[in-house]
Amino acid sequence: MDVHSSYQNSDARVNHLSLDLKADFDKHTLSGTATWRVVSNGADVLYLDTRGLDIHSVKDENGEALSFSLSEDDSVLGSALRIENIRDVAQVSIAYTTSSEAEAIQWLEPQGRSPFMFTQSQAILARTWIPCPDSPGWRFTYSATIRVPNNLMALMSAENPTEKSEDGIYHFEMKQNIPSYLMALAIGDVGFAPLSERAGVYAEAEILDKAAWEFAETEDMIVAAEALYGSYEWERYDILVLPASFPFGGMENPRLTFATPTIIAGDRSLTALIAHELAHSWSGNLVTNATWNDFWINEGFTVYFEHRIMEAVYGSSYSEMLSALSRTDVIEEVEDFMKSRPEDTRLKLDLTGRNPDDGVSRIAYDKGYFFLRLVEETIGREAFDAFLKDYFQAHRFGVMTTERFLDYLKANLLSESQWEQIGVDEWVYGKGLPGNLPQVESERFALVDQAVERALEGNKPEGTDEWTTHEWLRFIQGVHAQLDTDGRNTVAQLDQWFGFSHSGNSEILAAWWQPVIAHKYTEAYPQMERFLIDVGRRKFLTPTYRALKETSQIEVARTIYEKARPSYHAVSRQTMDLLLG
Ligand SMILES: [Zn+2]
Repeated sequence: MDVHSSYQNSDARVNHLSLDLKADFDKHTLSGTATWRVVSNGADVLYLDTRGLDIHSVKDENGEALSFSLSEDDSVLGSALRIENIRDVAQVSIAYTTSSEAEAIQWLEPQGRSPFMFTQSQAILARTWIPCPDSPGWRFTYSATIRVPNNLMALMSAENPTEKSEDGIYHFEMKQNIPSYLMALAIGDVGFAPLSERAGVYAEAEILDKAAWEFAETEDMIVAAEALYGSYEWERYDILVLPASFPFGGMENPRLTFATPTIIAGDRSLTALIAHELAHSWSGNLVTNATWNDFWINEGFTVYFEHRIMEAVYGSSYSEMLSALSRTDVIEEVEDFMKSRPEDTRLKLDLTGRNPDDGVSRIAYDKGYFFLRLVEETIGREAFDAFLKDYFQAHRFGVMTTERFLDYLKANLLSESQWEQIGVDEWVYGKGLPGNLPQVESERFALVDQAVERALEGNKPEGTDEWTTHEWLRFIQGVHAQLDTDGRNTVAQLDQWFGFSHSGNSEILAAWWQPVIAHKYTEAYPQMERFLIDVGRRKFLTPTYRALKETSQIEVARTIYEKARPSYHAVSRQTMDLLLG
């Protein structure tokens, strides 16, 4: 049962989609047809999800019109498309146009630059650009014809071109079945650079070389991932670098990860994000959470897998820094949630009547990660790796609920006493963080913590030349956590020593705004404003605007937001609208 999809009311099923869409950059619409191959199972009615679509007609394979209706519009779920008399029908062809406000799609026409558009379908936004069974629990294959302006390239979560076509027409094929939230389309003036035989990167010309350098270790990551949990099932692994307004760090669209340009730091220090999206090729894309209540099945496994890939490629002293940061993040998030929404600190969520986007928090990612890490620590790495490899193999191209996973865990790995020792039920169904949250020992962070002490005493820390982004993040967070209320001079001193306000590294900037805001270090506000206008990544926006709000500077936040809002994707706008009223 997926409470976020009308398709659950349908006995009829669909298993292949053919899309034929034209992208109109003037009107900000996609229009054309979505043709679904139908297995009626003797049912008369097929339900599909839509939101804001203008449906022109529905026809069967002989071009005969089928009667259809749309249910009343729900602000989160949209309208169910009910198609009748489909008992003997082999396919339904739906002619439609998207709304210019379709939430999945961002149309960008920056001054003096080429236009760009991209979609973000997760969690339930696929229905704003395709009438579809918009639930992660159902899979289908697809083919597509996409028509775009002549000078642009179209790319999808499918087999992709590496060069622009003469006529602006592109054909796509996705032979492996996927759920709707992995439907993806991007159109822009992009080029391609190979990274290895099976991996490559797409980006606009001015950042293509930088991106290819930054992601040069992608093949090493694929090799490491395969050695851990079995062969890569999607043939190619390419990365598309999107404009900075992309609301997420990355989106694991199969065969083509969508990535924020904010991870191009110039020193390969933020490529854990690529390991994360790559790991989704197993956890998420191959074995998929059945509903958004089971989101941790996608993300907890993926963070665990990401850290294992990073350990294999860069060593455990590196990956343990990632784990230590995860630990800080989840402790903070849980503390915060326990005040206002304690139910959401459970791994298994209940998002009935809510936007499934509410489930996107550190809980699914990092609490999920630490649960799996605890299982590993309890039974030993070798046994856990063998179990995970079998798990992915046994459920490939399938869906997984929390309960089915727990049954599988009980049947194939844990004894009753191990189950009790771990406290599996408390971890999955309980609120907060259990007392046996794994510890993380990071020697490199221990050195950073000493540097924090030194800085707080007013002395410039030594030995920071070799620090990675993660060490700087730990340092900034450490200072911020321990600064007294009158820490403004320390903040100014740190900026003078290390030039944080002018860093080219988005993670460092986002962390830095916290002490800047807390101590009203207004000298850095112009840089902060620039950052908030240029970058649309929600992970950076939310804590920054929230910090302004919580320190009685909401007017500052609103003034910046007013300027920045037009360049944000709808996903980020929605969150900031709520936050800033
Ligand atoms: Zn993820």
